Amino acid sequence: QLAIFWFRRDLRLDDNAGLYHALRSGFEVLPLFIYDTEILDDLEDKNDARLTMIYRYLKKIKDELEDKKISSSLCIKIGKPIAIYKELIEKFDIKEVYTNHDYEPYAKVRDEEIKDFLEKKDIHFKTFKDQVIFEKNEVLKDDQTPYVVYTPYSRKWKAALKPYHLKSYPTEKYFDNFIKLNKSEVFNFPTLKEIGFEENQNPHIPSTDFPKEIIKNYEETRDFPAKEGTSRLSPHLRFGTISIRKLATLAKETNEKYFNELIWREFYMTILYHYPKVVNNAFRSNYDKIPWRNNETEFEKWCQGKTGYPLVDAGMRQLNETGFMHNRVRMVVASFLTKHLLIDWRWGEAYFAKKLLDYELASNNGGWQWAAGSGVDAAPYFRVFNPESQLKKFDKNQKYIRTWIKEYDTKFYPKPIVEHKMARERVLETYKKALTPL
Ligand code: FAD
Repeated sequence: QLAIFWFRRDLRLDDNAGLYHALRSGFEVLPLFIYDTEILDDLEDKNDARLTMIYRYLKKIKDELEDKKISSSLCIKIGKPIAIYKELIEKFDIKEVYTNHDYEPYAKVRDEEIKDFLEKKDIHFKTFKDQVIFEKNEVLKDDQTPYVVYTPYSRKWKAALKPYHLKSYPTEKYFDNFIKLNKSEVFNFPTLKEIGFEENQNPHIPSTDFPKEIIKNYEETRDFPAKEGTSRLSPHLRFGTISIRKLATLAKETNEKYFNELIWREFYMTILYHYPKVVNNAFRSNYDKIPWRNNETEFEKWCQGKTGYPLVDAGMRQLNETGFMHNRVRMVVASFLTKHLLIDWRWGEAYFAKKLLDYELASNNGGWQWAAGSGVDAAPYFRVFNPESQLKKFDKNQKYIRTWIKEYDTKFYPKPIVEHKMARERVLETYKKALTPL
């Protein structure tokens, strides 16, 4: 008799809520990961760095499980999760399936389907809060509706926080309950080739062992893309290769500003949970009336970092080369695309989704809708970033732009594709016309 623990966005053994409960279930625990073909089929790049990150962290989990002290391993499957569960329950006497909550619309539907299927077979499907401190309806306005403005949300969030919310789950005490390695027919570890991908040789996975000084001095350094001034933990939060409880504990003790950023992350996840329509629609519906220009040539130049605006171009090249872009620059390139070029935020969002190692639906959608003005707590539409003054302010010595634009001082660097003053007036007029009720 077995319980399964299903790894998803929580690729670690330590302080993992669902895993902790599985290990205490009284059954032997089979650790499972499924390469979900519904997701993989949408990935165009066979070298996708995210797959390499997942692969490496699964390898780490496998090695930890195979250590003599635990003597277990990992079961990896490829396919549609529902089909995999059908196969597994044929083979094994499974009593319970444990996993952690996922708030994305696709995952919610998938989990409902699997829960229904399993429960018809008398197998309990149990899922737990793990990737956030507060979720779903835990932080609501007094009238029990969700917050759509960050500051009061964060105030309530902080007021609700009790020490036990940050307590780690001591999974390690129960590692003996993993199914043992001698049942080797359940274990396997496919290579990336076997699932149709290549290992990316330079996936730019940042270290989790970042200097704590960064959090300490966060205010002074966070806005300057040439500095190593932010934690670079976003891919680890995305894949759950670090625990949010441990990070939030450190942040709370060290720096309020940094702590607030972790709350932004939860704010956007809560918005996605309550308003799944934001995936395809403006949060403020009237913004769907904006007549986007959607010029494909200009979009292509933006993607390649050839707009002639150095801060925009440096950001896009950093993204294309490394899968990362500094937050300040994300705001500038997103504003430039939606406002200077009047291109639909959904185009930019989809491009980021393809390229970012830390791609996360809730934060990406939130960031894009913020920039376009259409989202919760968004920048007012008349606020149009001036990419030149942003450059002067945040990359005064031009270190960042020169790192990414090698031809900056040569005749090969393009002239601006659009004039700032004209673009500013054009967007203000277009937005005003679209947003003014008839
Ligand atoms: P730090 O400054 O060290 O912050 C620590 C953590 O706080 C981050 O890792 C992240 O989890 C969280 N955080 C910080 N800022 C934000 C924010 N504005 N919104 C939500 N969470 C935040 N973040 C993603 O994780 N995935 C995305 O797909 C994503 N897309 C974005 C798209 C746009 C247009 C914009 C403007 C922002 C986007 N962000 C996204 C938010 C932010 O840019 C990144 O989280 C941050 O740059 C990651 O670097 P870091 O880990 O060094 O951040």
